Amino acid sequence: MKSENFDVIIVGAGISGLYMLYRMRALGLSSQVIEAGGGVGGTWYWNRYPGARCDTDTIEYSYSFDEALQQEWEWPERYPTQPEILHYLNHVADRFDLRKDISFNRRVESAAFDEKSGRWQVGTDGGGWLSARFLIMATGSISAPNIPEIDGMESFRGAIHHTARWPHEGLDLIGKRVAVIGTGSSGVQAIPVIAEQATQLTVFQRSPQWSVPAHNRPVDPDFVAEIKADYAGFRARNRLESGAQLSHIPANDFSAAEISEEERQRVLEERWQLGGFPFFGAFNDITVSHESNKATADFVRDKIHAIVDDSLVAEMLTPDYTIHCKRPVLDSGYFESYNRPNVSLVDLKTTPIQAITPAGIRTSEADYDVDIIVLATGFDNMTGALLRIDIRGRGGLLLREKWAEGPVNYLGLQVSGFPNLFTITGPGSPSVLTNMMVAIEQHVEWVTDCINFMVSNDHAIIEAAEDAQVEWVAHVNEVANATLWVSCHNWYQGDNIPGKPRVFMPLPGFPPYVEKCEEVVANGYEGFVLS
Ligand code: NAP
Repeated sequence: MKSENFDVIIVGAGISGLYMLYRMRALGLSSQVIEAGGGVGGTWYWNRYPGARCDTDTIEYSYSFDEALQQEWEWPERYPTQPEILHYLNHVADRFDLRKDISFNRRVESAAFDEKSGRWQVGTDGGGWLSARFLIMATGSISAPNIPEIDGMESFRGAIHHTARWPHEGLDLIGKRVAVIGTGSSGVQAIPVIAEQATQLTVFQRSPQWSVPAHNRPVDPDFVAEIKADYAGFRARNRLESGAQLSHIPANDFSAAEISEEERQRVLEERWQLGGFPFFGAFNDITVSHESNKATADFVRDKIHAIVDDSLVAEMLTPDYTIHCKRPVLDSGYFESYNRPNVSLVDLKTTPIQAITPAGIRTSEADYDVDIIVLATGFDNMTGALLRIDIRGRGGLLLREKWAEGPVNYLGLQVSGFPNLFTITGPGSPSVLTNMMVAIEQHVEWVTDCINFMVSNDHAIIEAAEDAQVEWVAHVNEVANATLWVSCHNWYQGDNIPGKPRVFMPLPGFPPYVEKCEEVVANGYEGFVLS
C-alpha cells in the first residue's frame, strides 16, 4: 500500500494544485494532491452550466511555466469554453504525468498541526490519516458554492441545480419552465443559453449588473503567431507592465476629467466595440475616480436602454451603484435575452422570494410555477473553501476562530499560528483582482522557492510573525479603502453571504505586491519566523 506520509500535501487539483505538484516533484519532494472531484480541473471540473466560459483571453489564461506547452496548445476562440479549459488541464496532467500523485474522490475534512512532530495530520472523508511536513491549500478562491437557505426548498417537486454543481451528464432544458436565481457572471453567461432552450425562463434578480459585451470570436492566427514568437515577452509584459489585469490591452493613459464629453463618448464606444475587460480601461482611474466611473456607468446605462425593448425592464436591469465595484461581468447576448417572448424578469429588491413551493417560487407578489430551479447564487468566496475544512494550528486553534472577524494573514500566504501551511491566492493577496493564472503562478513559484530554501537550509518550520500579519492586514485595508471597490455590496467584502464579516479580502495592485514578496525574500523571509 502507498505510504500516506509525505513531504507535501496539496489540497485541490485545480490550476494551482496541478502546478504546485509539478514544482514539488521537481524539488524531489514526495507529494500528494487530495482532490474531492473525480478529475483534475478544480473550478473547471465543477462549473459545467450552459454557457460556462472564461472571460479572460485564452492567449493569457493558460500556464506560462513550460515553453513547449504554451507553444503547442491551440485555442479556437478568444475566450475558452469550460470543456476546452478542462481538456487543456487534463492535457497538462497527462503531459507531466501528474495523475499518479493525485488521490481523486477524496475530500479533506480536517487538518491539524502536531507541534511535537512539526507535521500536519490530514483527515479525509474516506477515513484514515495522511501526514506531511508542508500543507498547501490550493482550494481555490471561488470554489465553495453558496446555496441560499430558502424556506420550502426541500418541498420542490422539480430539480434544483447550483451552477457550480451542474450534472456532468448535462440537463435537458428543452420544453422546460426554468427559473434562474442570481445574475452574477454565472447567471449572465447561462441566461442567454437557457433562454434558447427553455419554454419559459424567469430570472430572479437581486442586483442588476453592469455587464458589457464579451465579443467572443475565433482567434486570429496572425495575432497568435505574433504572440508565440515571443510568448515569454508577452507573459512578462502581462505580469508586471499591465498589472496582471484580465486583458493584455492596457487602459488608456488618461482620466475622463482630462477630455471633452464628445471625446469621452468616442473613447467609450471604441472600447465597447473591443469588448470584454478592455472596456473598463477606457479611463485609467475607473476604480478610484467618481467622474470616470460615472461617465462609464452612464454610457452603459444608455446601452442597456438601447438594447432592451421594454423600458421598464431596461430600468430594472440598470444598476444604481458604481460600475466595476462588483466583479465585472461580460456577456454574449445577456440584455438581448430580455427581448425574447419566453423570458421574464422578477426584481427581488421590490418583490423578495418568500418560499420555494412544491410547484415553484413564491415572491411577495406572485407564484411562479417552474420545472427546474437554477441557483446561480455564487460562492462563499476566498475564505469559504478553507473554513469548510476543520483546520487547527498551534494549540488546537481553529482557523475558523482565528478568522471569526475576517481573514488575517501575511502576504495572503500564511497565517500566524499555522506553521508550514500555505494558501495559494489566499485573501490578502491580489488573487481575484487579477488574471488568476498569473496570480497562481506567482504564488506557486514563491512557495516553491520558500520550501526549497527551508529544505536546503535545514529549517523545519516557517510561520508568519503576528506583528507582520497585523501590519499586512492594515495595509490591505488601507489600499482597498482608497478605491471605489468598497462603495457597493460585493463579494470581495463578503456581502453576498449572510453573517460573513465585512472585510475587503483581495489586495488591489499586483506589481507592488510582487515587489513586496520579492523584498521579503531578499531580506531573509522578513516577517516570517524560521526555526
Ligand atoms: P456572483 O457573482 O456572486 O453572483 C451571484 C448572484 O446571485 C448575484 O446576482 C447575487 O446577488 C445573487 N444571489 C446570491 N444569493 C442570493 C439569494 N439568497 N437570493 C437571490 N439572489 C442571490 O456568483 P457567480 O455569478 O457564480 O460568479 C462568481 C465569480 O466567479 C465571478 O464574480 C467571477 O469572478 C467568477 N466567474 C467567472 C466567470 C468567467 O470567467 N466568465 C464565470 C463565472 C464566474 P447580489 O449581487 O445581490 O449578491
